[in-house]
Amino acid sequence: HTNSPEITAALKKLDDSLSGDLITPDDSRYDSARTVWNGMIDVYPCAVIRVGSDSDIDVVLEAARDTGLPLAIRGGGHNVAGHVTVEGGLALDLCQLRAVEVDPERRLVSVAAGATLSDVDHATAPHQLAIPMGVISATGIAGLTLGGGVGWLTRSCGLSLDNLESARIFTASGEHLTASAGENPDLFWGVRGGGGNFGVVSSFTFHARSLSSPVLAGNFFYQPAHWRDALTSFEHWTQSLPDEMTPIISILVLPPEFGMGDDPWMVVGFAWASEDQASGLELIQQLREIAPPDGEDVHLTDWIGWQSSLDGVFPKGSRGYWKNVSFSRMDREVVDVLADIASEVTWHGTGIDIHCLGGAFSRIAEDDTAFPNRSARFWLNIYGFWTDPAEDERLTAFARKAHARMHPFAEQGQYVNFLGAEDGHDMTHAARQAYGQRTYDRLKELKNRYDPQNLFRLNHNIVPDPS
Ligand code: FAD
Repeated sequence: HTNSPEITAALKKLDDSLSGDLITPDDSRYDSARTVWNGMIDVYPCAVIRVGSDSDIDVVLEAARDTGLPLAIRGGGHNVAGHVTVEGGLALDLCQLRAVEVDPERRLVSVAAGATLSDVDHATAPHQLAIPMGVISATGIAGLTLGGGVGWLTRSCGLSLDNLESARIFTASGEHLTASAGENPDLFWGVRGGGGNFGVVSSFTFHARSLSSPVLAGNFFYQPAHWRDALTSFEHWTQSLPDEMTPIISILVLPPEFGMGDDPWMVVGFAWASEDQASGLELIQQLREIAPPDGEDVHLTDWIGWQSSLDGVFPKGSRGYWKNVSFSRMDREVVDVLADIASEVTWHGTGIDIHCLGGAFSRIAEDDTAFPNRSARFWLNIYGFWTDPAEDERLTAFARKAHARMHPFAEQGQYVNFLGAEDGHDMTHAARQAYGQRTYDRLKELKNRYDPQNLFRLNHNIVPDPS
């Protein structure tokens, strides 16, 4: 992979104006710079540009406009669909902009767009503050927030994007805009769910929540013979769950370092976001009684430790193919389907998660953000993290089949951050399906206004009308 003389000349010009690093195929860092979390994405951009300052973003956008080269934007690089890099194009990488500033008095946290969830937690935890984010600490705050952000605080505090106060956006036309409830509110609506369709976000300001570490959190473990009953009891338990409790079920073969052997487990993980430990313990006891676990690990745990406790399951370079379904019924019929899907997870490298929604997440009005479907009670995430390319066909087939089996119970709306590459469909079709027609149409109006040439198209793309 070498660049043509024209591209080399254009890149030289770009490099002269940059404070960050321009990494081309002849650079020893190129191979590591071009890789993303999903090892199935094997793409060769003509340059990865690790911007060193906000003004570098302007420089790269100008180069993309001048050269017409396709442009990809990378936050933490965890996007499963591989949108953060582009064959023969410019990959703008924000990984060097990771500053997190906390104003404990006002509970405002300003986060540069290349920060990881770990960067944010390490900055907020000393102030007994937290931002609701995802469950794997190496994930990027940018992609996570622009699409949603679901994790251990979803029911108590909502999504990451529900806690966003403002975002700083570099648009296709070269403007620097603040999007907040008071400034450019239309754009503020769109960036909360609409992904990177409207520009490069250079920083986010969040409203942080108080969270005293250690927190009451843990896991119940179930053997396959008990999955059906445990799922049924779990559904019953979640019917009157207080907001402070966020549970997530995972069914998978855990990696060796978890010491759980080679058999699949159903793991019901939960975090109790309240200082009232007695009530949390009582609630956990209720589940223990109606769905006695085969093992458990419940304790007061350091928040940062809990937030990274699953990191080992998803190492960078895993081969990822993901599917997602929102649903609300978990009666006998659905439990049977879920248990059947789960019974096939007998190898390391795929799994399913069931996220329990409701609580604060469900009280945000449907039209307040571009995030689809606030009423679903659950999400099923079917995911892959295998290592051997020879397994690609078999394990993507597993995910597709599992998705198809849940289809009859699916509600409208999918979580764009859990969508992988879509089989045979273009991304626009996928985006329309994910957002639903009404939200998609509203996003399209914004796209027409802020990015009519579709400079930002490597995402779950909202295609502007032809101008
Ligand atoms: P990237 O891959 O860098 O980017 C994702 C998308 O956003 C791309 O289209 C990119 O172009 C765009 N983008 C990124 N930064 C910017 C920016 N600054 N401005 C404009 N556009 C930008 N999600 C959850 O909600 N909860 C979880 O617990 C969770 N766990 C995960 C665990 C793993 C192992 C993985 C792989 C994913 C997980 N996700 C989770 C999904 C995650 O939210 C998405 O992968 C998300 O895209 C990650 O953000 P990122 O910054 O790393 O993404």
